[in-house]
Amino acid sequence: MNTPSNKPHIAILAGDGIGPEVMQQALRVLEKVAPDVSYTHGLIGGAAYAKYQQHFPNATKELIDQADAVLFGSVGGPIQAADSPQWKNCEVNSILALRNHLNLSVNVRPAKFYSALADISPLKNHLFDACDEILIYRELLGDIYFGEKRTFEVNGQMVAEDTATYTDDQIKAIAQQAFTCAANRSGKLTSVDKANVLDTSKLWRQVFDEMAKDFPQVELSHMLVDNCTMQLILNPAQFDVIATANLFGDILSDAASALPGSLGMMPSASFNDAGFGLYEPSGGSAPDIAGKDIANPMAQLLSLAMLLRHSLNRHPEALAIEQAIEQVLNSGHRTADIGHNASDTTGTVAFTDQVIQQL
Ligand code: NAD
Repeated sequence: MNTPSNKPHIAILAGDGIGPEVMQQALRVLEKVAPDVSYTHGLIGGAAYAKYQQHFPNATKELIDQADAVLFGSVGGPIQAADSPQWKNCEVNSILALRNHLNLSVNVRPAKFYSALADISPLKNHLFDACDEILIYRELLGDIYFGEKRTFEVNGQMVAEDTATYTDDQIKAIAQQAFTCAANRSGKLTSVDKANVLDTSKLWRQVFDEMAKDFPQVELSHMLVDNCTMQLILNPAQFDVIATANLFGDILSDAASALPGSLGMMPSASFNDAGFGLYEPSGGSAPDIAGKDIANPMAQLLSLAMLLRHSLNRHPEALAIEQAIEQVLNSGHRTADIGHNASDTTGTVAFTDQVIQQL
């Protein structure tokens, strides 16, 4: 929906921890590249709880229902405070509830390899040089995260259960997007599952095999998740587009993010069937570094670039942000997570200053 002035309008949900810090930098960049885009802030997570005693209040639901897209920061508190009312179930009640509210079934996480950062990647040089970008398509609304959960006692023993469920429609939705993306890139799609053990994975594989008939230009291969974890480290250049279930995607995308250098560089986008998008860093609220001006703003800035490209059709502005970030890296600026030593690093705000200067 557009505002009365017909400007594109985005909902800004900065959240907790480093969320507000990196979001503030993203808004500086937005104002530079697309000053006509309007935005409104809403509360989510622990920040919302402090005001409404709810992690995902109605005021925020109304805000996002009026927006053309959502730019999200991150939610959650320190692990040691996880049982306090403000932080208990914060992630489940906010970001998982938000994904459910918007019916965001597909999550895309690009892990891009920057040549300027080859020296901080854990990969050997020849492996790093062969990599460009890996795109991970993660299903977001099914699997063990949304199935029935219970903890109970049987004969004096505590038992906990989490149920993993998938419908073929849920799998078709992500398969369709992953095949379409692969067809427009290298034509290579790796579907990752655990079909040697899990029924949900057997159904997953069956749906992908059936859909492959509609995409003859795509070479589909299947890989078990344990092997994929090893292959990502041994030979990441073999992958272009990976599609996988919710739990496997959560873990594999964090692993993939470490290969280019840091979780703080990895953006993500989530879409529903109607193409509505929510954009957020792949990492969490990083309470260990919050408030110190040392968080890497790249994941938030690149999430903004994805929003401009996919939800607002602003391709030149998106590319400008991506290229400006690459130039800043090429000129040697590093935040602490990707720097060699603490005395030689650039803070969150100063790194963004450099990006803005390049724009
Ligand atoms: P995390 O992703 O917040 O942090 C993991 C590590 O990566 C930390 O060392 C952190 O300092 C570092 N890191 C993350 N983003 C960074 C950045 N931009 N720049 C530099 N370093 C960065 O994961 P965690 O520590 O397991 O969880 C912390 C909180 O975040 C928890 O409350 C958790 O529930 C929440 N969480 C939220 C989301 C979300 O909002 N979507 C996702 C994951 C975790």
